[in-house]
Amino acid sequence: MDLLITGGTVVTCDPADRVIRGDVLVRDGRIAAVGQGATFSTIPGARAVDARGCLIVPGFVQAHVHLCQALFRGFAEDLPLLEWLSQRIWPYEGAHTKETLAASARLGIAELLLGGTTCALDMGTVRHQDAIFEVAKDAGLRLTSGKAMMDKGQGRPPGLKESTDESLREADDLAARWHGAADGRLRYAFAPRFILSCSDALLAETARLARSRGCLLHTHASENPGELDVVRSATGNDNVVALHERGLTGHDVVLAHCVWLTSEEQKLLRTTGTKVAHCPSTNLKLASGVAHVPELLEQGVTVALGADGAPCNNRMSQLTEMRLAGLLQKPRCGASAMPARGVVRLATIEGARALGLERDIGSIEPGKRADLVVIDTRRPHLAPFSDPFAMLVYAAEASDVRDVFVDGQWLVRDGELVRWDQGEVLAGAELAIDEVLARAGAERRKLKG
Ligand SMILES: [Zn+2]
Repeated sequence: MDLLITGGTVVTCDPADRVIRGDVLVRDGRIAAVGQGATFSTIPGARAVDARGCLIVPGFVQAHVHLCQALFRGFAEDLPLLEWLSQRIWPYEGAHTKETLAASARLGIAELLLGGTTCALDMGTVRHQDAIFEVAKDAGLRLTSGKAMMDKGQGRPPGLKESTDESLREADDLAARWHGAADGRLRYAFAPRFILSCSDALLAETARLARSRGCLLHTHASENPGELDVVRSATGNDNVVALHERGLTGHDVVLAHCVWLTSEEQKLLRTTGTKVAHCPSTNLKLASGVAHVPELLEQGVTVALGADGAPCNNRMSQLTEMRLAGLLQKPRCGASAMPARGVVRLATIEGARALGLERDIGSIEPGKRADLVVIDTRRPHLAPFSDPFAMLVYAAEASDVRDVFVDGQWLVRDGELVRWDQGEVLAGAELAIDEVLARAGAERRKLKG
């Protein structure tokens, strides 16, 4: 059945960045037309969605998340990156069963969809990756994900240990199973965790395998000064240079963070077409620093946004990342740095470009897949109606998201999940975190009466 979203303010994010007051017609999961005024209101049989008083925006694309960590929200506070990983996140990830990982993915995806994120690039944990894809398939989210690969490094608990061969074999099997599944909605990304937890042999073979299968490569780079020192002493080079030497730069590579880059590394990103996932909340919370995003954009590097993991944020809201991405640069670069219009593009079409999906999603244009979000602006904190870009970046909140569609499928309706019972998702998460902490040997302080 055709779907007709009527009477909204359509923020298209098309090449001309047009804002249109009118209707969006969806047919067979794709955007059939975008029209000024009530162009299509007479289409017989179409299911109509009244979007008067609302913004209609492209579904948000997050270029770096960890669904496997959604359960750990609030259980890894006030630590810098390397301690945060070794003392909290790795022991918890190593304690996941397939069932607790599925509960974590359900919680994370529920939060993403309710906040208007329709597409994400995810790094899983070492084991049970099928659980994440199975949950995403059921949820309707557009997801590119891959198991974390880590065949070396100190501080890995037994549950995260794997040999080079095991890691490669499992990743390749997963890619064969999931890349292109669910009518292309699910894709595989090869995800070596970061250079310190991967042998040179693993990185080189991973790059080869990913390219032979046409999959993205996704890893972390240059997040934190402490990490950079260790990378330099381990490889003799700066992080992005070391990755480049091992084949992990290029149009098919997404590097999360890139907070600390030399000018040579900035140039390498540009000349190789490597994409950056900027995670402002995480970079602040783990005391990592402020990525020089205006400089990267100036050079023509593709930059997208991501909330990273729930234990280092502690939200998974693209609207929060947009607000911070805008605010963070202004004290350093001046009030005109990072205009809201550009930030909205980072959250949508540039996210799609980072994932290699810019022909299919990221803007509201005829022919693209109908990944759409309706945001209700009839709220005191969004009044009076003004510049839609400024409203989105600085005033809107995840709870303003009213409806969410992926491939034209209605996944959030009137602020509620359509396919899942939210109470069940939350109850499943409570049980699962108890189990993870018990298996990790950590005590859960009973915070609730
Ligand atoms: Zn991350």
